[in-house]
Amino acid sequence: MKLTDINGISPERDKALHESGVKTPDQLVQLFPRTYIDRRKVLGIRQLHGSGEKVTVIGKITSVRESGFGRKKRLEAILQDETGQLKGVWFKGISYFKKTLKIGSDAAFFGTVKRYGRFLSMAHPEVEQFSGTDSSDDQSFARIVPVYPGNRSFRDAYITSGLLKKWILFTLDRIRFQEFLPDEVLKRFQLPERNTAFRWIHEPESPEKHIKALERFKFEELFLFELSVVSLKKEVFDKAPGPVMGRTKPLTSKFFNAVLPFELTSGQKNALTDIKKDLRSGCQMNRLLQGDVGSGKTVVAIGAILMAIDNGYQAAMMAPTEILAEQHFHTFDHWLSPLGVNIRLITGNQKKALRDDILSDIAGGTANIVIGTHAVIQDAIRFHRLGLAIIDEQHRFGVSQRALLRDKGEHPHIMVMSATPIPRSLAMTLYSDLDLSVIRDLPPGRKTVRTNILRESERKEAYYLMNRQLQDGGQIYVVYPLIEESEAMDLKNATEGFDQVRFDFPDHTVGLLHGRMTLDEKEAVMRGFMKNQIQILVSTTVIEVGVNVPNASIMVVEHAERFGLSQLHQLRGRIGRGERQSYCLLMTDVRQSKEARSRLATMEETSDGFRIAEADLKLRGPGDFLGTRQSGLPEFRYADILSDQYLLERAKQTAIELLAKDPHLNDPTHRELKKAFLPHLEEKKKFFRIS
Ligand code: ADP
Ligand code: MG
Repeated sequence: MKLTDINGISPERDKALHESGVKTPDQLVQLFPRTYIDRRKVLGIRQLHGSGEKVTVIGKITSVRESGFGRKKRLEAILQDETGQLKGVWFKGISYFKKTLKIGSDAAFFGTVKRYGRFLSMAHPEVEQFSGTDSSDDQSFARIVPVYPGNRSFRDAYITSGLLKKWILFTLDRIRFQEFLPDEVLKRFQLPERNTAFRWIHEPESPEKHIKALERFKFEELFLFELSVVSLKKEVFDKAPGPVMGRTKPLTSKFFNAVLPFELTSGQKNALTDIKKDLRSGCQMNRLLQGDVGSGKTVVAIGAILMAIDNGYQAAMMAPTEILAEQHFHTFDHWLSPLGVNIRLITGNQKKALRDDILSDIAGGTANIVIGTHAVIQDAIRFHRLGLAIIDEQHRFGVSQRALLRDKGEHPHIMVMSATPIPRSLAMTLYSDLDLSVIRDLPPGRKTVRTNILRESERKEAYYLMNRQLQDGGQIYVVYPLIEESEAMDLKNATEGFDQVRFDFPDHTVGLLHGRMTLDEKEAVMRGFMKNQIQILVSTTVIEVGVNVPNASIMVVEHAERFGLSQLHQLRGRIGRGERQSYCLLMTDVRQSKEARSRLATMEETSDGFRIAEADLKLRGPGDFLGTRQSGLPEFRYADILSDQYLLERAKQTAIELLAKDPHLNDPTHRELKKAFLPHLEEKKKFFRIS
C-alpha cells in the first residue's frame, strides 16, 4: 500500500507529507496527535461562569479585530456557539494571530475564562481551527477528537487535522502491524497489543486508553533501546578481557595508611571497593565515577592508579586542559613521589628534548604514571604496559576518546570521572556502556558557601565583603556570562567589568581572562591567580572546571540570571575549598522575571549538586542541560527520559531478565522481537565503534 492509495491523498498532498517525513502508511499512523479535545467536557458558552475555570469551548469565529494603540494594542476574536459568545484576547503575537484566525471557521478555544461585565473572555487561549471537512459529521460524533500537529506544507496542501485522522483510520483498517513484544511482557505490564494501541492513539474511547496506548509505545522504544544496550554491555564491554590486578599491594597500603592525611569518606570507600572488584575480575573495567565538585574524586583515582602500579602496570590520567593536568601533576607529585613513584606530565607545548625524554620514559616503562591533556592518546605515545586509563571531567570528552583509550595498550581498564551530577535515568541512557559509582557525600568539615542574591542597588554590600576578604588576604573571582548572540558583547562586558573593578580596587592586582586570549595568555593569568600575584580575577565563563585555588573565597557572578543552575553550581564549586568562610554573590538585574528569581533562589536554598541538577533539568530539558558538546543522547520519539524514568527502569529490568533467559533471542517466540531489535543493536555498535 502506498500513501496515494489512500482516498484524498493527491500527489501534492503526498509531497507535503513526504516533506514532513511521512513517506509510507506506516509512518502515517506513527504521526500521533499532539493533543485531544475531549468533547465530553466541552461546555456551552452559556454554562460558563467566568470565574477562572479552565475549559474548552467550540464554536465559529465570527469576528477578528484589532483595538487600542501602542502598548494597549490587542486583538479580539469572537467565538460563537448555539448558546452565546466568548471573546478571545491577544496582547502578544497580534499580527500572527490576525493572519491565522479565520472568520467563519470552526474553532476550539482552550483556556481560562474570566468575566468582565457582560463579556466572557479568554486571554491567549490555545486555538484549534477546523475548516472544511473537519466539521464533517464523522468528527462531531466522536467524543474525543485527536488534534494532529500541523505545519506550513500541511497548510499549503490543505491537510487538516480532520483529514489526517480520516487517512489514518483508513490505513488502520487495512494494515496489520506485527506485534514483537513478548506476550508475557504485555500481560505483566497490561499493555495493549500493537494494533489495538494504534487504534487507541487515534480513536481513543477514553483518556485512560490513550494513556495506556502511549505508555505502550514509550515502553516499546525504551525496551528496544535497553535490549541493545544490555546485550552490548553483556557481550562486549563486560566480556572484554582486562589486565588482572589481584596481587598484594605495598604502595596502595602505604599510601592510605601513611601518606593520606585524612580518612576516606564512605562514598570514596564504596567507589574504591567497586573499582577493586573490577580490577581483579579479569575483565576490562568501564566505570563512571560521579561525584559533586569537591567530593574527592582525585583520591579515588590515585587509589585505582596505585593498584595498577602495584601489579606492574602503568596508568594514565587525561584532563581536558593543561591547567588541570598540571594541577593533577602537582597533587600526584606531592603525595606519590616520596613513595618512589615516577610521574610524567605531558602537554602540548614542551620542548622537543624534554618531550623525547618523556616519551622514552613512557615507552621504556620507567614512568609509572602519565598525566596530560589529549596528548596522552596521541599516536606518538607508546606505553610500555598501560593497565589503567582515567579521564577527568568526562563531559569534556566524547565516546570516541573512550574508544581510542580502550584500544591503547593491553586493553587498559577505563574509568571516567564527572562532576556533573546527572539523574540516574540520564546517566543510564547517556553512559550506557559504563558501570556507575556515585560519591554522594562531601568530606567532613567543609564550610558551606554562603550564597546571596544581590540587586544592583545592593552592590555596596558586595564591595564591603570583597574589601574585607582582600584585607584578610583572600582572593576573588568575578564572572561574566557568555552572551551567545555576540562574542564581542561578551568581551565588552568582561573588559568593562575589568576596568571598573580595577578602578574600584586600586590597591590590588586585577587579572582578566576571556575566550579570545591565546592558550598561553590564559595560562599565564591563571598561574598568576594560583600564585596569588593576582587577587581579583575577572573572567567570562572560561575559568576552568576543576581549578583549585583554595585561597579564593568570593565568587561574584554578574548577570547571574543568565546562567544555568548547574553552571552556577560549578562556579560556586571553585570557592569554599580552603579555611576561609566563602561567599557566592549572585548579582542580578533589577528587572528580572519571577521565574528567574525563584530559579536563583534554588542556589540560596541548597548546595546539593544532584538537587540543583534535577531542578535545572526540569527547567531546561536534557538537550540544553547537557550542552552541545555532549553528543550521544539517544533521541526517543515518544518517551521523555526525565518524566518517564520509571518506564526506563522497567524496560532495563525486563531487558536484563529476558536476555538472561535467551541471550541471543533465538527462542522462536522472540523471533519478531529479534527482528525489531537488530537495527538498534547495529546502530549502537556503530556509535561505540565496535565492529
Ligand atoms: P573533585 O571531586 O572535585 O575532583 P578533589 O579530588 O579535587 O575533588 O578534592 C577536593 C579537595 O578535598 C582536595 O583538596 C582533597 O585533598 C580533599 N579531600 C578529598 N577527600 C577528602 C577526605 N576524605 N577528607 C578530607 N579532605 C578530602
Ligand atoms: Mg576534580
